[in-house]
Amino acid sequence: MSTKFIFVTGGVISSLGKGIFAASLGNLLKGSGLRVSIMKLDPYINIDAGTMSPFQHGEVFVTDDGGETDMDIGHYERFLDQSLSRANNVTAGQIYWTVLSRERRGDYLGSTVQVIPHVTNQIKHSVQLVSTQKEVDVVVAEVGGTVGDIESLPFLEGIRQLAIQEGRDNSMFIHLTLMPYVEASGEVKTKPTQHSVKELLSLGIQPDMIVCRTGRPLSVDIRQKIAMFCNVPPEYVIEGRTRKFLYEVPLALEKEGVVELVARRLHLKLGERQPSNLTSVVERLREPKKGAISIAIIGKYVKQHDAYISVHEAITHGGIANDVKVDIQYINSEDIDSHLDLTSFDGVIVPGGFGERGIEGKIKAIRSIREEGVPFLGICLGMQCAVIEFARSRCGLDGANSTEFDGDTVHPVIDILPDQKQIDDKGGTMRLGVYPAKVSEETRARRVYGAELIYERHRHRYEFNPRFRENLEEAGLSVSGISPDERYVEIVEVPDHPWFVGVQFHPELLSRPMRPHPLFQSFVGACLDYRARRTEEREDVQAAAAEPTRP
Ligand code: GLN
Repeated sequence: MSTKFIFVTGGVISSLGKGIFAASLGNLLKGSGLRVSIMKLDPYINIDAGTMSPFQHGEVFVTDDGGETDMDIGHYERFLDQSLSRANNVTAGQIYWTVLSRERRGDYLGSTVQVIPHVTNQIKHSVQLVSTQKEVDVVVAEVGGTVGDIESLPFLEGIRQLAIQEGRDNSMFIHLTLMPYVEASGEVKTKPTQHSVKELLSLGIQPDMIVCRTGRPLSVDIRQKIAMFCNVPPEYVIEGRTRKFLYEVPLALEKEGVVELVARRLHLKLGERQPSNLTSVVERLREPKKGAISIAIIGKYVKQHDAYISVHEAITHGGIANDVKVDIQYINSEDIDSHLDLTSFDGVIVPGGFGERGIEGKIKAIRSIREEGVPFLGICLGMQCAVIEFARSRCGLDGANSTEFDGDTVHPVIDILPDQKQIDDKGGTMRLGVYPAKVSEETRARRVYGAELIYERHRHRYEFNPRFRENLEEAGLSVSGISPDERYVEIVEVPDHPWFVGVQFHPELLSRPMRPHPLFQSFVGACLDYRARRTEEREDVQAAAAEPTRP
């Protein structure tokens, strides 16, 4: 069977949840015994998401091979339970970069270099690359942006050509659109969808399936109307209703018969259908048996929750593993002051980040969390802040800091290490992608991971400065994970605290709903214990107060 290509486009507005749809489709196809790969074509000019502000674009997701990719790649990995690579996120910047480099090398042998065919050929090549890198039955390729945008034109032209080249039975187009409900007339409107499909048709693309994003059930009449105006069989008009939990989407699409419809259109031979690996996940999300806990995320990108999407999801996975609902509160690290009582939370996370803003607030927060015994997980920058706080409070190293925030600090407990400084001259200093770490025996980290050798993804420039290790360890900070060559500190913890762990890497990037990351699982478990302990204490105090006092 030759590889099949499914192209997913979006119409009417952005933020329709195309990424979630593509990820859900991938999940369903994989669940039908097919080998699936999934990619995103991003029409922006940045070479990758690494230089884009999380305020604007959400989180930068890092792949095993160190690709700094769009956050949709994170959704793909979580829904497919499968690791992807940098090749799964192609940007217009990369395409143009390659074409221009080839032009400079003279590869085009004197011809005029044009959008068609040179840019479109490069786009086609990048999609085909994903289909040949590993043996796959289906490639799902999502085109970022909205149909009608100027910058997505070369991508739409590229996939149009590729679909012809691969043959009608081997490629299909799925278009996601918005189905707005107009309060005044009490109707769902199909006109925007009709216009968006016309736009696609004018580019030579006839969608084979239309997925309608809606807040309400899609009536038979509406389905028929769209089918008639947009040239698709009525059964290929799919209801894509908004769901409370992301992981419900594949189950809802399965009920709509999406897998069978795709299989019919592409002559796909489906394997034996297994019950969805998300059924039990959704059951636990809907009815957690152990009530709810609340966890605070203290960061500076809190207005844009997408900036912490993988952390958010990983906490949710930890909640699933512990059968508890987790309310996640976002707190701006610039707003941390003495009035904020962090002990009202059952646990606190300080996630990754860059730049000086809000750092002192994070350090202040970590100090009270450490002293009060609130469960704490510090991720990357969060771990660095924990080390700074410990150095200042417990080692008497006043003014200890990271050279990222204070280049002149007398106690650079976090610094760029000398070997990286040399690399700096060559350009790239960021430690990116998956690296092994050794976890020491008889530590919390070892109990959590249950293994000596672990692999985690990184994205940072600064490191724990080994010069201060002895000093910090003597004061009670345990270094429980290091790189196998013993150059880098990877995990620190405070043993005389109920649960206080800082990790230099990003565990959230490897957490999956059906396989929650052990650190998040253990952290959420600790938050549950902390809540139970506090409730008990409160009850004891109440009971003591109620006791009759002797006259
Ligand atoms: N800014 C810090 C560094 O570069 C931390 C990065 C992060 O949290 N991802 O080392």
